[in-house]
Amino acid sequence: MKLTLSETAAALSGAKKLVVTAHVNPDGDAIGSTLGLMHLLRGLGKDVTVLLDDDIPAGFHVLPGYDVIRRPSEDEKIACDLFVVLDTMTDRIGKAAASVHAPRLINIDHHHTNPGNDKEDLYLDATRAATCEIIYDLAKEMDATLSKEAAMCLYTGLATDTGFFRFSNAASHTYRAAADLLDAGAQPNVISEALEVKPLQTVKDLGEALSQMEMFADGKASGIFLTQAQTARMESTESFIGHIRVIDGVDVAVVLKCKEPELCRVSMRSKHVDVSRIATMFDGGGHVRAAGCTLKMPFEQAKATIMEAIEKAIREGWIA
Ligand code: 5GP
Ligand code: MN
Repeated sequence: MKLTLSETAAALSGAKKLVVTAHVNPDGDAIGSTLGLMHLLRGLGKDVTVLLDDDIPAGFHVLPGYDVIRRPSEDEKIACDLFVVLDTMTDRIGKAAASVHAPRLINIDHHHTNPGNDKEDLYLDATRAATCEIIYDLAKEMDATLSKEAAMCLYTGLATDTGFFRFSNAASHTYRAAADLLDAGAQPNVISEALEVKPLQTVKDLGEALSQMEMFADGKASGIFLTQAQTARMESTESFIGHIRVIDGVDVAVVLKCKEPELCRVSMRSKHVDVSRIATMFDGGGHVRAAGCTLKMPFEQAKATIMEAIEKAIREGWIA
């Protein structure tokens, strides 16, 4: 069932014990929105547990609550009144799905590719740049106090999902929300300085990845394709795509990582082409200009498959 903002706020306000989670491979919006909502709800006197089924990148240690994030375990089932899934449809939350026992689940997201389903309640606002921006809307709707702790977390998702306010998804509402969060105590410089720090090895890995970059689709696409050995060796690859999407003439940038013999993860960015449409062909999703999917096939086949799909999208002008 599709919920309105006020119905979603009422459900959150009505619950006493909540578990909040977000997608695996969590980014600034997933981490910021779960922790931000936790602070808001704790401020309203509620018992809140944050579960994320993945490692949390060290840069996020500046976010208040970083240390209370728990990894779900198969042996432990947490009972609560309300299970809240943020920034993804409910199939990308790893073991959190099986470790929470709740009579009701609410999914809050900003991805237009989230189809929802009959069993779960969905609040979807694809006009918002980040799930953190929706949590800000909910804070207003619930009359919750924006503490400094919540503001730090929510600002992080606004910043990271908009490429630090550079992408087209940053709207006037996003800037107004950011301004309010600054008034509430968010420190943008502390967040961006913490997130830009990289281990030396990651910068060296970037050099290796860039040296094997391939241009295709008549120079309109750029790709980095990492074998399973490279993927296993490289600790952090998230920043790579930003370096190849800026090449003059490139519309679509792709990074493919082979994680298992028959499992490759794909990240795409674009200037014009609707990459969420490409991702959806392979059961993934995302936004018009940033999307991803998983290809269950060997490295060479996955590479050829995604290159072909991108070439077709560019040739046929899949512009949203
Ligand atoms: P990234 O390339 O940074 O992993 O993801 C870009 C965008 O696409 C993010 O908004 C992310 O949530 C979404 N996305 C990435 N991979 C998947 C996927 O496998 N399924 C869905 N539904 N969304 C994805
Ligand atoms: Mn997001």
